[in-house]
Amino acid sequence: MIKNERILEINNLNVNINNKPIINNLSLSIEKGEIHAIMGKNGSGKSTLAKVIAGHPHYEVTQGNIILKNNNITHKEPDFRSHQGIFLAFQYPVEVPGVSNIDFLRLAYNSKQKAYNKKEADPLTFFDLINKKLNDIEMDKKFLDRHLNEGFSGGEKKKNEILQMSLLNSELSILDEIDSGLDIDALKKIADNIKYFSNENNGIILITHYKRLIDYIKPNYIHVMHEGQIIYTGDNSTATNIEKYGYEHILNNIKI
Ligand code: ADP
Ligand code: MG
Repeated sequence: MIKNERILEINNLNVNINNKPIINNLSLSIEKGEIHAIMGKNGSGKSTLAKVIAGHPHYEVTQGNIILKNNNITHKEPDFRSHQGIFLAFQYPVEVPGVSNIDFLRLAYNSKQKAYNKKEADPLTFFDLINKKLNDIEMDKKFLDRHLNEGFSGGEKKKNEILQMSLLNSELSILDEIDSGLDIDALKKIADNIKYFSNENNGIILITHYKRLIDYIKPNYIHVMHEGQIIYTGDNSTATNIEKYGYEHILNNIKI
């Protein structure tokens, strides 16, 4: 394997929503095999960054670029990015009544297969495949027949996002507060699944407020976001300091 192959590079990114600047001159580089955590106060721009990387159409990139595996994707459609290996797990997964989870998952899977000119999975083949994934993440088969996220508990929704991530085998997965609202056991399980999924061929961005998830997963880097910028990059001790002293203390000790 080629060491230190870059998956994502963001250079001097500036992003507006309704002409209001939200991301300011942000740069970030992620190599294969790395997990990067992003922390920061509410409103610092974490979810905006996640959505901009995934290609959400509401956001206007006014400057800078986003490079995925040497391709400039700054202005590409979300579908293209997803086919190229970006997966975004939402902070609030949407409920889709009337669409069964298994149908949705097969659609997502086949759409990616098609983009790579690979064979699409028929329902039976897909059933085998998804069952294997379910076993991997110890998720109950009954989820498959339920409508997408409808009536799922917070923990079940998050688990379903992990199932999608694992099914699509995305090269860059962005998990936006995948830990919010989970009890300790569910958190541990999700953390185990993320660790199991992480390998030398993919990269993960973990947006979180909680030291506990960071303690389980031990990301390679922890970035602190403030007013649309990464103002500090540290190791796992950063999360300890944030929990002990709060963001203000961290911000006061960093020359902005
Ligand atoms: P975080 O995820 O760090 O809490 P967000 O990225 O959600 O922060 O929000 C960053 C800033 O952008 C906030 O001030 C928020 O109000 C603003 N913002 C986010 N989305 C929109 C939107 N669709 N329209 C207007 N302002 C937005
Ligand atoms: Mg957010």
